[in-house]
Amino acid sequence: MAFEGLSDRLQQSIQKIKGKGKVSEQDVKEMSREVRLALLEADVNFKVVKDFVKKIRERAVGQEVMGSLTPGQQVIKIVKEELTYLMGEEESKIAVAKRPPTVIMMVGLQGAGKTTTTGKLANLLRKSYNRKPLLAAADIYRPAAIQQLETLGRQLDMPVHSQGTEADPVDIAKQAVEQAKEEHHDYVIIDTAGRLHVDGELMGELQRIKEAVVPDEIFLVVDAMTGQDAVNVAESFDDQLDITGVLLTKLDGDTRGGAALSIKAVTGKPIKFAGMGEKLDQLEPFHPERMASRILG
Ligand code: GDP
Repeated sequence: MAFEGLSDRLQQSIQKIKGKGKVSEQDVKEMSREVRLALLEADVNFKVVKDFVKKIRERAVGQEVMGSLTPGQQVIKIVKEELTYLMGEEESKIAVAKRPPTVIMMVGLQGAGKTTTTGKLANLLRKSYNRKPLLAAADIYRPAAIQQLETLGRQLDMPVHSQGTEADPVDIAKQAVEQAKEEHHDYVIIDTAGRLHVDGELMGELQRIKEAVVPDEIFLVVDAMTGQDAVNVAESFDDQLDITGVLLTKLDGDTRGGAALSIKAVTGKPIKFAGMGEKLDQLEPFHPERMASRILG
């Protein structure tokens, strides 16, 4: 289960302070030292950890009994608030274009879960928001990507715009949007190509698609299991494409959680959804507050 280690460590860190009727500066110092180690062990970005601990210290020192909370409980409340803030505060919404269709461009490295997540997102849009998406297969390089999306389309009973592997991805994306207009789809989700690493050629193609269809959302799909790498990937995609949100996959695995806790702080872009398994219904809106509560127990 994701965050297990982090959750255990953080709960231990706050355990001592929990029952305190009076919190000294020394107590806060001890607690924040342990919180710092817990976060670093969970692979949270170094600078993010530094800022986080500093904020907690500033806010936690000198807590007095207020209302029904003891000073110890108040300190824990502060940790929870800051953890929530770190992950993005409120639940993120999905854009709705003024004039349909809303265009969503899915980007990310190969293996991150882009194609699967394209299917999951389409499923969620239909189930939870009553939308009628069209999928577009613009990953012409990975041999099985188009077939994979077509299979997902059949499973979901949803149309897929595809032109095989010979067409230009920019044309595929543009014509998918045209098809959506003609057939009254309110969303188009474009599955684009990925590579094993960030490279200039890939970014160039993604930028051309972006210019051609002017997407309402550019969602970066990142694998939570890749830790710090996920954060670096998010930074470079954001630099080049100005992404609008992150979809974090494989949060059902035993990820240490560093990516989930660093991406918002490092890129300023929110995590919008989290993949919790391979099945098509295993994509959930990312709720920072619920996640913080889960982590702190
Ligand atoms: P792409 O190359 O980015 O398009 O990646 P795929 O969509 O083909 O996914 C790569 C692998 O990750 C597949 O085996 C997926 O089933 C798996 N995968 C995707 N999302 C999740 C997730 O949230 N949890 C788990 N456990 N596996 C996932």
